[in-house]
Amino acid sequence: DYVIVNGNLIERSEARLDIEDRGYQFGDGVYEVIRVYNGKMFTAQEHLERIVLSAKKIGMELVYSVEDMKKQLTELIEKNEVKLGTIYMQISRGVSPRNHPYPNPVVPHTLVAYTKEVARPIPNLENGVKAILKEDIRWLLCDIKSLNLLGNVMAKQEAVAAGCYEAIQHRGDTVTEGSSSNISIIKDGKLITHHADNLILNGITRRKVLEVCGKGNIPVVEEPFTLSDLDAADEVFLSSTTSEITPIVEIAGKQVGNGQPGPVTKKIQALFDKEIEAECGS
Ligand code: PLP
Repeated sequence: DYVIVNGNLIERSEARLDIEDRGYQFGDGVYEVIRVYNGKMFTAQEHLERIVLSAKKIGMELVYSVEDMKKQLTELIEKNEVKLGTIYMQISRGVSPRNHPYPNPVVPHTLVAYTKEVARPIPNLENGVKAILKEDIRWLLCDIKSLNLLGNVMAKQEAVAAGCYEAIQHRGDTVTEGSSSNISIIKDGKLITHHADNLILNGITRRKVLEVCGKGNIPVVEEPFTLSDLDAADEVFLSSTTSEITPIVEIAGKQVGNGQPGPVTKKIQALFDKEIEAECGS
């Protein structure tokens, strides 16, 4: 398998990273995960614009343009002959003797990207998954897709230890997002999901969901909802690049609705599939 390190397409075994890379020592950097369907990237433009924005929010001005990155990633997919999978890409603030302040003068950022074959999560899409509830203890800049994921990792681990797929996080009474996904509920045919502010990552899949709801005449409300709204919801689903639109059929041991994926979620899944087909073919 080939990987990209700082603009060079090389064998994975040839990749060398410095032990004083700030990504490694401080989680000082940003990342993206992009889906590949049918050998083509899905919503690459949105993901790459987001990594530029995430970088900017932590004071990193990228030397690569969205177009440059798209070209590099396209070459990587072709070289690795990925048909159905993901690209992981991260950019750290670079290599410098360990010290908290940003290196001054600025040092070259470290860009790494690699691919993975990943199937579509068909059983989860069809049957739904279980979730736990978890107090959101993360920092207050969750809109940045930063490498600092310890809060998310610990929340996910708690879910997995409980035999569940995801942790639905909440700050007090307000539901924010999953550990690696956004959360939406359906009540009386209407979709409700937390608005894009500093408490959630504005997921690219979330944005696609809102877009297809527009096309499918499903009313949408972007505002915070509470734990009791979640409890009273007709349907609940999570959305993310790799998990797509996954129904949540049980929360903290209690069935959602009748315990089966609901009709509005299924309609959104079908509309989402059309978007994939339109951009990547079938
Ligand atoms: N929220 C968090 C915390 C995430 O880590 C992710 C994705 O990994 C998402 C939401 C979903 O974002 P996207 O749809 O862009 O993959």
